[in-house]
Amino acid sequence: MIRDPADVLSSVFGFAGFRGVQGQVIADVVAGRDVALVMPTGAGKSLCYQIPALCRPGCGIVVSPLIALMADQVRALGLAGVRAAALNSQSGDSGETVRAFRSGELDLLYVAPERAAMEGFRQLVAQGPVSLVAIDEAHCVSQWGHDFRPDYRRLKALADLLPGVPRIALTATADAATRADICEQLGIAPERLVVAGFDRPNIRYQAEAKRRPAEQLVAFVKAQGAVPGIVYCQTRKGAELAAEQLQAASVEARVYHAGLAAEERAANQKWFQRAEAGVMCATVAFGMGIDKPDIRFVVHMGLPKSIEAYYQETGRAGRDGAASVAMLFWGPQDVTLARQRITDGEADEQRKAHELAQLAKLAAWAETLGCRRVPLLVHFGEVDPAPCGNCDNCLEAPATLDVTEAARKLLSAVYRTGQMFGMAHVAQVLRGAADDKVLRFGHDRLSLFGIGADLTETQWVKLGRLLEAGGALEREAHGGLKLGPAARAILKGEVPVRVRAADWAPTPRRRTRGPAVDLGVADEGLFERLRAWRRKRAEAEDVPAFVVLHDSALKAIAAMRPTSRTALAGVPGIGAAKLERFGDDLIALVADG
Ligand code: ADP
Ligand code: ZN
Repeated sequence: MIRDPADVLSSVFGFAGFRGVQGQVIADVVAGRDVALVMPTGAGKSLCYQIPALCRPGCGIVVSPLIALMADQVRALGLAGVRAAALNSQSGDSGETVRAFRSGELDLLYVAPERAAMEGFRQLVAQGPVSLVAIDEAHCVSQWGHDFRPDYRRLKALADLLPGVPRIALTATADAATRADICEQLGIAPERLVVAGFDRPNIRYQAEAKRRPAEQLVAFVKAQGAVPGIVYCQTRKGAELAAEQLQAASVEARVYHAGLAAEERAANQKWFQRAEAGVMCATVAFGMGIDKPDIRFVVHMGLPKSIEAYYQETGRAGRDGAASVAMLFWGPQDVTLARQRITDGEADEQRKAHELAQLAKLAAWAETLGCRRVPLLVHFGEVDPAPCGNCDNCLEAPATLDVTEAARKLLSAVYRTGQMFGMAHVAQVLRGAADDKVLRFGHDRLSLFGIGADLTETQWVKLGRLLEAGGALEREAHGGLKLGPAARAILKGEVPVRVRAADWAPTPRRRTRGPAVDLGVADEGLFERLRAWRRKRAEAEDVPAFVVLHDSALKAIAAMRPTSRTALAGVPGIGAAKLERFGDDLIALVADG
């Protein structure tokens, strides 16, 4: 007997409707068809195998490398009334799990890839019945992905043992080569690939030039209120410093980086996983394996490597769909340092050129004056997206100044000095500063010597950087600047150049106005009481608070004030099992308040 997916969605998970491609993917898997699914983090991949596993007869096998998360997942499913278990190096009594599987008492069995690749496990699953094989973090199967794991190569053999059982591969990050590899290595027909849209409409993108980074960070974090967030820093030292600065401002903050002892890292991760408020200051070592849907902000103190990296890291915010913020604090020195790191690195020339181009693209994005979401979506292949209305530039068009004249002077100076000098020298020539180098090259005799004395050296350097980010200047390996493809139109006066007024003549002490995340709570008092109740329940059940109920569910209760079980069942996120378990408590809380 096959259950109806929409019915499982509402009765077990308490959700009213499928999101995006979920409905289509679930219908396919329920019907026994394979799927390779690429879906951004937070879009709801898990339901794409959990629901089919409940609809089809037998137990769903879920291969996942995120062992640390399995216990929480299993417990969360248990609270929703789903019979789930895990087999991995930390999961304890495997005898009991094996017995439960054999006697058909499991809906879902999570297994680590090492275990899944073993002969014993193959023999076990061959005794079936198995409803589906789900391969999570499927990019691990590909050498082209960023986290290749040899054990993943043995999963096809496992799935091949189960003819007629659908396989579903899931990942959030896969470029074209990785996608093709996933299909090939796992025996999924290429036409079964489903790529979901990459937009994360609930994330508000913001970027701000660093002026006094510590103050900006503290002001931003405080403006968000008592909510969970991540601050990504470029270095371990930076992460520690950020945590100290936040602590000094009475914000609870901890650190995560590869230099900490394993126990401390694990303890801090566990704290964060369960925190209802508090900030994790981390390097990118804090990455894969964060499964916290209620992260309300992700801050970057400095530029990551590429738009992909930035998008993946900011994508950890707002997986529950509620309003969240991605804030980038960056400065020209970040670009210089990152460029230096790449040029001094070990990679071959081709790779370096690729990385430099990636970095330049992100630097240009940081300075963009238009919608921030549009270039991100274009980068991921979307055609002609509309401005989003939910980024800093859309919400408040930045005041700009026309600096086309200055840009033309700068480009001419680069050209007339022979396209071989760095910006410092070009600025000296423009400002009419006859230093040794200028005299040695005879640049004081150029007709444009001194035509830019009205601007400071800092402004010229800033403008040079802007032109470089926009492709009007290019940098040679030795650091000299030459004209790039975008220079011509500017020199001919066809394309204007504008700068953000605030960046052009910065007032040194501007305060950061990070708009607070709108929680939109109808009844603050009731909401707080519900939160307090949830905290106790979470402690009693030893699960993170969001596993008991999401903020969105508590908010809905505070707004709807349900006084009966029927009314409570209409709250998103409350399925039959949660209604049974928490219904009386919640109704009593509403009645009291
Ligand atoms: P992913 O694995 O793709 O990063 P998850 O499967 O963890 O994302 O889902 C992210 C969040 O979205 C979870 O909190 C989940 O409960 C919620 N969610 C998923 N699908 C739906 C839906 N159809 N309606 C409401 N919430 C959903
Ligand atoms: Zn926008």
